[in-house]
Amino acid sequence: MTSKSDTLIEVKDLSVHFPIKTRKLFKTEAQMLRAVDGVSFDIKRGETVGLVGESGSGKTTVGRAILRAIDPTDGEVIFHRKNKGDIDLAHASEAELRKVRSKMNMAFSEGGGGIKVHTLAGDLLRAFRPEMSLVFQDPYSSLNPRMTVRDIIAEPLVAAGKIKDREKIDARVREIAARCKLNLEHLRRFPHAFSGGQRQRICIARALVSKPKFVVCDESVSALDVSIQAEIVNLLKDLQDEMGVSFLFIAHDLSVVAQMSHRVAVLYVGKFVEYAPTEKLFFAPKHPYTHALLSAIPTADPDASYDPIRLQGEIPNPLAAPSGCRFHTRCPFAKERCSAEQPDWREIEPEHFVACHYAEDFDFSRS
Ligand code: SF4
Repeated sequence: MTSKSDTLIEVKDLSVHFPIKTRKLFKTEAQMLRAVDGVSFDIKRGETVGLVGESGSGKTTVGRAILRAIDPTDGEVIFHRKNKGDIDLAHASEAELRKVRSKMNMAFSEGGGGIKVHTLAGDLLRAFRPEMSLVFQDPYSSLNPRMTVRDIIAEPLVAAGKIKDREKIDARVREIAARCKLNLEHLRRFPHAFSGGQRQRICIARALVSKPKFVVCDESVSALDVSIQAEIVNLLKDLQDEMGVSFLFIAHDLSVVAQMSHRVAVLYVGKFVEYAPTEKLFFAPKHPYTHALLSAIPTADPDASYDPIRLQGEIPNPLAAPSGCRFHTRCPFAKERCSAEQPDWREIEPEHFVACHYAEDFDFSRS
């Protein structure tokens, strides 16, 4: 049973809409692209949540909105942290909260919970930034070729301005580089001297140097060879065990997500369709879209115990998202109700959420 104090990040009804102008003949029309449309979930301390879905489903936008790399249109992102005196802010007394509030000068959610990340701006946002970080997909373009590895890894510490002493920065860089299994002699070199796997280790060291509590890994192993992918996944897991960091692991390769994640959320045209512990989601999915994604994973078992669904057509354009259930245009089980009525986001079993009118009728179990 999870207690509230285990929760690190709470995302409530998060939406990100982009105003778009489209040209039709001689007219320009303003439209709203609903990239993310009301997603809710939580991430526990030291947990990895996988986020999957086809390209264009809104995975990257969810990650960036939580990090405040882009501003959410609506909804809340609450960050529950323990302060240096190990006071759990979710359960702190009013007196403790007052003390911490004045010390941290942060925006707190009503009711004495965590920090309202979606409201932070200016200095407060800058002060908060080291708590969360990002590992990019492309280890080639995300490293400045003119900076040494030492300077690249040190960048977040320098930007935050909390540690000014060069020796202390060097000590922290050496510590995290060693943890990321980088050779300390490499710190003086430039990124071009390294392979894809080594570059991704540099990116991970940069993301973790400020000891963030939460890191978004956005397709962070997708550009790597399979053997290197396994090395990086193992490295991330080791770092999680050592540092207690939580990850949002965004990927389109479900087998990598299964290795890495404790729970997995499935996104379709900006909305969650299923969210469950990894084993439950992979062995007993309840949403036809999840089943279709899993059906696409090659299996060596000719006697697989389930009927696969092959996805037909393309993911719909979020500018013209289908009515009712957004998956109804591709769902082989769709009924009349599906195009008229949007399914509720329901907890059908403990910690297993799904948005489908008929989830209880399906048995997509794999043995
Ligand atoms: Fe398919 Fe209807 Fe369920 Fe949507 S609500 S997934 S269209 S059965």
